Amino acid sequence: MTTSTSFAEVANPAPATPEHLAEVLADPRFGKYFTDHMVTIEFTPERGWHNATVGPHQPLTLSPCAAVLHYGQAVFEGLKAYRRLDGSVASFRPEENATRFRASARRLAMPELPDELFLASLSALVARDERWVPHAEEHSLYLRPLMISTSADLLVTPARDYLFVLVASPAGAYYPGGVTPVTVWLSHEYSRAAPGGTGSAKCAGNYAGAFVAQRQAVEAGCDQVVWLDAVDRGRVEEMGVNNLFFVFGSGPDARVVTPGLTGSLLPGITRDSVLRLAGDLGYRVEERAVSTAEWERAARSGDLTEVFACGTAAVITPVGTVKHAGGQFVVGGHQPGPVTLRLRRRLTAIHRGSAPDPYDWMCRLC
Ligand SMILES: *Cc1c(COP(=O)(O)O)cnc(C)c1O
Repeated sequence: MTTSTSFAEVANPAPATPEHLAEVLADPRFGKYFTDHMVTIEFTPERGWHNATVGPHQPLTLSPCAAVLHYGQAVFEGLKAYRRLDGSVASFRPEENATRFRASARRLAMPELPDELFLASLSALVARDERWVPHAEEHSLYLRPLMISTSADLLVTPARDYLFVLVASPAGAYYPGGVTPVTVWLSHEYSRAAPGGTGSAKCAGNYAGAFVAQRQAVEAGCDQVVWLDAVDRGRVEEMGVNNLFFVFGSGPDARVVTPGLTGSLLPGITRDSVLRLAGDLGYRVEERAVSTAEWERAARSGDLTEVFACGTAAVITPVGTVKHAGGQFVVGGHQPGPVTLRLRRRLTAIHRGSAPDPYDWMCRLC
């Protein structure tokens, strides 16, 4: 079966007025407003991927028996389109999102969307809704691809039919008032992912299972939950929907450490990029297990100087204070550290096009 990457176009009959759009772009926030259009592509075993369309952003029609509503075959991605200094629009390593989307689909026994179709859908939507891509620094157009099973069939087996959807939402700066450290809660009660489970897939159920732990973190006065390994809760895995980095020492001797990909961590594209950039900046980088005991001991002794989290939404977030059932401790005086800020500036400059992009990570969409 060959895959066509051309899209039928159906214009939104009632697009946002220029006045409304200007209002939205003045304060886009996150995930609140959606662009005029969306992409849909259908899958059946007989026809493969077909009916690729850029049409109006509108509700889907689903049977109440659609398999996704019962058994949760749903995977998604998250990436951003950035307005560059030269006026063009580009996204960051989108082929990595395409690859991860296929890996997530495989884990949930769903069909794989070919990378060229995934990438073509991004260009098709961003070109159509280009006026929704903000110009302000650190603003972006957040792109949310997802895939669900649509067969009306209550058999507890992989569904036959699927729908790919791509929607887009303007996003404001994550830290309009400057980068500020978060306080985190070590969750000993709940785990996000277990060996052999779905932790390395971006599947909807992982997030539903996490909300109660995030709520507990907020009740404990924290901003974010930190996930520990499901087996003995001794090793650090992730923070919310971000990967974690630990900086030991300082200056040119700083070592940048992140937990290795054990199968229960989500393999973040920002994580991979930070590992590369930290090495280029001359830091020693290590992927290895980090225990909660080491975190607390090294933070108290001062050997651990910085901790930060990273992901597409906030790029890099400093972690300042750690709380758990037995007490709390501070990292680096609850201030954003120099390595954290340096890596953050490096990444945002690549997004913006204000610094060289040595690995050709930016992919022009329009
Ligand atoms: C998406 C996600 C990340 C970050 O991945 P990026 O590709 O860097 O955006 C980290 N952890 C979890 C659980 C996630 O869902």
